[in-house]
Amino acid sequence: MKREKKEITCIVCPVGCLMEVIMEDGKVVEVTGNECRRGVDYAHQEATMPKRTLATTVRVKGGILPLAPVKTHVPVPKKKIRAITELLAKVEVEAPIKINEVIVADVLGTGADIIATRSIPAKAAGAVS
Ligand code: SF4
Repeated sequence: MKREKKEITCIVCPVGCLMEVIMEDGKVVEVTGNECRRGVDYAHQEATMPKRTLATTVRVKGGILPLAPVKTHVPVPKKKIRAITELLAKVEVEAPIKINEVIVADVLGTGADIIATRSIPAKAAGAVS
């Protein structure tokens, strides 16, 4: 049996409990240091399948700016961040873009949509950049 210990800081609320997580064969068997139940849930997720919200940019065609800021609408598995970043590097969307518009739905089957975090109006006709 493989037993390991991890220290994880709970980020669910501002208290920031420092938790000790004991794992056996990749499974969480004990969590200590948490002030409430939400910490246990967070420790399970962080120890077995950590997730992060990804924020980056995509290229924009015909917009007043060349790039649009985007993010995942929910956290995605940390191990998929690189593949998602590589995919988004190849994406180009046409202006105008509205804030919260879905740029890529269900990115790489994660259930997360890539959404715009600001609007990018189209360049005025005849405008030169
Ligand atoms: S364990 Fe509970 S009290 Fe502690 S940081 Fe997490 S949510 Fe907050």
